[in-house]
Parts: sequence; structure tokens; C-alpha cells
Amino acid sequence: MKKFKLVSLLFVIVLVLAACGTKDVGNAGEGDTQDKDKVYRVGIDTTYPPFEYEENGDYTGIDIDLINAIAEDQNFKIDFKPMDFGGIIPAMQAGQLDVAIAGMSITDDRKKVVDFTDPYFKAGLTLVVKQGETGIKSIEDLAGKKVAAKKGTTGAKFATEKAEEIGFELVQFNDSPAMFQDVANGNSDVLIEDYPVIAYAITQSTLDLEIVGDRLNGDEYGIAVLKGKNDELLKKMNKGLANLKASGKYDEIINKYLNE
Ligand code: GLN
Repeated sequence: MKKFKLVSLLFVIVLVLAACGTKDVGNAGEGDTQDKDKVYRVGIDTTYPPFEYEENGDYTGIDIDLINAIAEDQNFKIDFKPMDFGGIIPAMQAGQLDVAIAGMSITDDRKKVVDFTDPYFKAGLTLVVKQGETGIKSIEDLAGKKVAAKKGTTGAKFATEKAEEIGFELVQFNDSPAMFQDVANGNSDVLIEDYPVIAYAITQSTLDLEIVGDRLNGDEYGIAVLKGKNDELLKKMNKGLANLKASGKYDEIINKYLNE
């Protein structure tokens, strides 16, 4: 009997040690001790105020403050990797990024390759024309027009799907400022952009643009990680986000950039 107990005890010890062992060689994001040294590479689109942009050599904006606050709350470190929006998901798939926060809309298409956190902002697409342009009020008015969109975005996808049906030419840009300028200069007739981004750009600059019609959809933003690879990190980000919402820090960040 005694011997049996001893053997059982040894068996339990071996199991416990084995469990500890696997933890040490586990994936990034497992275990707090490991997270302290782990630096997550975060893809951002720095042409996207008020969510992310550069000011005096620093990255700033709603997304930047949010992910910094989440990392602080959940005790992990981050390193920002700025790039064109269209390159972010491919860079994640190539193993060059761990996280993406880029005013990125949660879509079923993207969910095939990334996992999203809970939504953190409600945006939605809108049409934007040069000030004084009266011929475009809705999607139907785009027939025969030149429509600008940004590569890899929900706006570009929306336009691609409608281009043939309505009959317009689609021109795609790498970043939002270049697209805004193209319409302001009168090259393209209209652009498709996220409502809060273009509304902010119009108030902050001298861009000769105006928003027309209703929002075209109800896109919501989420933070992304590569699908199925970072469950622990995803949980932490959701927890951090919930904590920021509960503490009032989330509202503080939003109000710092948008006084709606
Ligand atoms: N919200 C849009 C998308 O997810 C645009 C994002 C962006 O341009 N940074 O496609």
C-alpha cells in the first residue's frame, strides 16, 4: 500500500514537472513571466488620423493609445511596424507581425485568416466628393464616374463589387492622403472612406471635400492576430479592452481625439 502511494506521488511529481516544462517552451503569449520579455510586433497604418498618425516623430492616435493602454494593463510590450494598410494582413501571414491595429474593419473575409478582438469602434463607409459637386448623392450616381478607393480596404472591396453593376471606373491608392488629394484635385470624382476618418480629415485640414449621403454600411473596428495562432494574446487584448472600458480610460482616449 505504502509503495503504491509513493509510486503515485512520484507519478504526480513527474506530471507536474512535465507540465512546467511544456510551459517554458510554449508559444509566445503563454504565461506571464514569458510575456514580460516578449515584444509583440504591431502593424499600423500611420496615414489614418485620428486612429493612427505620426506627430513630431511619434506615433499617436486612438489606436496607438488603445493598444499602449491594453499592453500596459495586460503586461506585454509592443513594437510598432508602420506600413501601407494593404500590406498588413499579408505581413501577418508571412510571420512579420503578431498584431494589427489599423482602423481595421471586422469582416467575414478577413476572419478566414485572422482572429479579431471584440469590436472597439463603430465606423462605416461613406462617399466623399469635391466641395460643390452636386451630381453625386448616392451609389447609383456613380455610373460613368471615376471612383477612388484605398488598396486592401473595405472601401475598395465595396467599390469592386459595385463597379460592374453600376458601371464606373475604380482607381486604387496605397494611402488615404493620396486618395483625398486625387478627389480634391478633380482627378477622381468621388472617393470611398471610413466616415470618422474623412470627417476628421475635413475638420483638420483645408481639403476641399464634403461627405454625401448616408453611411454605406456599419463596419466595426477590431484588433487582429493571425488566425488560430495567438489565442492567449487575443484573450489578453479582450480583457484589456474590457478593463479600459470599465475604468473610463477607453472614453478618455476617444474623447482626446474626437469631441462628438
Ligand atoms: N476600415 C477600413 C478597412 O478595414 C480601412 C482601414 C484603413 O484604411 N486603415 O478596410
